[in-house]
Amino acid sequence: MQCSQKSKLQDIAGDEVGFKQYWKYLTWKNARTVFEVRTNMLRSNANYGQNDEICYKCVKQKETTKHIFECEDSTDDKISRESYRDMIRKAGPRQDSARQSAEAIRNYMDERTKMKQIINRFG
Ligand SMILES: [Zn+2]
Repeated sequence: MQCSQKSKLQDIAGDEVGFKQYWKYLTWKNARTVFEVRTNMLRSNANYGQNDEICYKCVKQKETTKHIFECEDSTDDKISRESYRDMIRKAGPRQDSARQSAEAIRNYMDERTKMKQIINRFG
């Protein structure tokens, strides 16, 4: 736990320059989502110590920030390896793709939360 907290702090420090850039051209909501992707802090269960949390889409792999973009069962083309690479670019993501990807990711997280609620209740 201490170890992962430390790496999170290092990631945040590492994104200081990038954040200053994209904060200027994105809304605060999108900038925050981009920040969460870049620092691997998307509110996925795998990031909160429940390490055996499996991706609800493919039900094969551990659900990490990176996996959400790489999942073979993802149907949204705004959530892809390419958009992940763009979002974590050192200089900050491109404005248009960042806005679209941030919105897609928030939709994904909403959908995922609803899905988990159903699974927890009936699964
Ligand atoms: Zn998956």
